[in-house]
Amino acid sequence: MALVNIHFLNLQSNYLFADIAKKVNAFKVMHPKADVISLGIGDVTQPLCPAVIEAMHKAVDEMATAKGFRGYGPEQGYDFLREAIVKNDFLPRGVRLSTDEIFINDGAKSDTGNFQELLHWDNFIGVTDPIYPVYIDSNVMIGRCGTYRDGHWTNVRYMPTTAENGFIPELPKGRPVDVIYLCYPNNPTGTVITKQELRRWVNYALKNDALILFDAAYQAYIQDPDIPHSIYEIRGARKCAVEFRSFSKTAGFTGVRCGYTVVPHEVSVATFEGERIPLHQLWLRRQTTKFNGTSYISQRAAEAIYSPEGRLQVQQTIDYYMQNARRMLTVLRDSGFECYGGENAPYIWMRTPNGMGSWQFFEALLYGTQVVCTPGVGFGPSGEGYVRFTAFSSHEKTEEALNRIEAWSK
Ligand SMILES: *Cc1c(COP(=O)(O)O)cnc(C)c1O
Repeated sequence: MALVNIHFLNLQSNYLFADIAKKVNAFKVMHPKADVISLGIGDVTQPLCPAVIEAMHKAVDEMATAKGFRGYGPEQGYDFLREAIVKNDFLPRGVRLSTDEIFINDGAKSDTGNFQELLHWDNFIGVTDPIYPVYIDSNVMIGRCGTYRDGHWTNVRYMPTTAENGFIPELPKGRPVDVIYLCYPNNPTGTVITKQELRRWVNYALKNDALILFDAAYQAYIQDPDIPHSIYEIRGARKCAVEFRSFSKTAGFTGVRCGYTVVPHEVSVATFEGERIPLHQLWLRRQTTKFNGTSYISQRAAEAIYSPEGRLQVQQTIDYYMQNARRMLTVLRDSGFECYGGENAPYIWMRTPNGMGSWQFFEALLYGTQVVCTPGVGFGPSGEGYVRFTAFSSHEKTEEALNRIEAWSK
């Protein structure tokens, strides 16, 4: 008899965005003529930049010749891309990595979800709350999170990040956490972490022999020069942290698929007998068994964003989205809403007015303005009473949505 992995049955209902789509579709069925604007799901809208398109065309043409054809590539990714990453993403920030510490992947969701399988099933995980749902759900799937009660998993330490603590989560008290997920700039709150705060987490991890899984998918949106882009800007992080990066939000690769994970040689975890096992060795073994690489065309596309033209063009698109973010902050605040984030990230985190629940406000906004936001509670219990808006829409649609919200709020 083929038995099910019962942990999958413990997952909470649908994926958040499937629930939202269902509600939006119900609205559209009732109001077929309505012009619905989505500032909900975190997907980009602007086309790939010319440098990337050119590199992709060139790669396709190479594949059409016997000489230029590529089959399976190296599992860890092509050297041309790994070298460009080390040289452009890390060296300018004073971080020295070797190319073999970079693992190219098909986007950060896969690796942020998969990495936990290198760890013993009863590690105690900690997350800042609210958070990108992939971290917890991927741990639920292998039975690491306990049972779900009152919006919480019993074996997960939630570290609230709310307006009340200035979006600075406290270090875990009591039972030490073994594995910590941090995401900065943060999805969904759009807030960032200072070097000083990040140093506290690295020191906690070193002191408690914990592992930090650091998701930097939005680092390209940081405007403030003092905010760290990589956890390796903190001394000691090479011993206790793995970092995930993605070209999805950086360069509009949500449909192209390419990202990478940094696993330094020094980062290790223990056996019960106290032996140290380097995670690099395990992740390499895992990837060579379960992953056959990212397409050559996608990797050439990613390489192109590091060319002088590519850098400029990618920056223009990021500036375009950040212009939306600034407009959103201005108009929403002028309309009397309490907003956070949006300064170093493409997300605005807004407190719902009059203590409304997240889903209640989501529906009121949808029916009142035909604008879609994301209910904050979908990202964790501390997200209740907030909603998330993304800056990834076009200027025109963002402006139209803001006009409607402004009129509606009066
Ligand atoms: C969008 C996003 C990612 C990246 O996903 P990809 O699989 O690279 O498209 C990773 N982490 C967070 C927090 C995100 O919001």
